[in-house]
Amino acid sequence: MIDVRALRKSFGDLEVLRNINFTVEPGGVVALIGPSGSGKSTLLRCINLLVIPDDGAIRVGETAFSFGQGARVPRAKALAAFRARTGMVFQSFNLFGHLTVLENIIEAPMQVRKMSRDQAEKLAMAQLEKVGLADRARQMPNTLSGGQKQRVAIARALAMEPEVMLFDEATSALDPELVGEVLATMKELAREGMTMVIVTHEIAFAREVADRVVFMRDGVVVEDGPARQVIDTPREEATRNFLSHFH
Ligand code: ATP
Ligand code: MG
Repeated sequence: MIDVRALRKSFGDLEVLRNINFTVEPGGVVALIGPSGSGKSTLLRCINLLVIPDDGAIRVGETAFSFGQGARVPRAKALAAFRARTGMVFQSFNLFGHLTVLENIIEAPMQVRKMSRDQAEKLAMAQLEKVGLADRARQMPNTLSGGQKQRVAIARALAMEPEVMLFDEATSALDPELVGEVLATMKELAREGMTMVIVTHEIAFAREVADRVVFMRDGVVVEDGPARQVIDTPREEATRNFLSHFH
């Protein structure tokens, strides 16, 4: 599960997150939507502590951190352990271009989880199987389509056996015909019970796959409710306005 309490983050004078609260139940899927600049990416980065909040608290599973006055600054080792348990997938796939698909996936399990190569390869192949790319293990990333690269990026995150998965516009950089295969992979993960936060502009996908939709604007949560209710009959004017841009 994920729990975010009274979270605040500023960059200089710019208050990007202003008292954010939300929870994702174990196995829950939350779609995070909102206009550009509303703070969605910053919130995801705070959840896995790629960005350190100024104030508030973050909990993933049994591990919790507090920030702000009186809170202890987390140590590098604790941060690294925490990040290893929160998988993140970005818009740009960030695969290592000089490594094969398999080598991309075994890197972190060997380096961070200290697995043997054998063990890591078994795990990597299982994850590749899951995203339908077991036959591509020996290929270089530049020989794959964008959709395949993104599925490798998902397999790589899964190889760390994370407690939660965070997706930041995972399909935004893809050609339209490749979006479906990545969404299908995410949908399958959701079906298997992975706890997920998905930043997306795919409103139909959010409506279908997410349990809840959270609409953010200007660093605050404006609306948070069951996916279909928020998308079909939003309570807030701002949510209605935002959704009117999608068909
Ligand atoms: P988009 O839909 O365009 O991806 P977003 O909702 O993900 O937008 P963020 O990327 O979280 O928005 O950015 C929120 C605000 O914080 C923006 O004004 C952005 O310029 C600013 N910001 C984000 N990261 C930094 C940073 N490292 N330093 C300074 N400003 C930042
Ligand atoms: Mg963003």
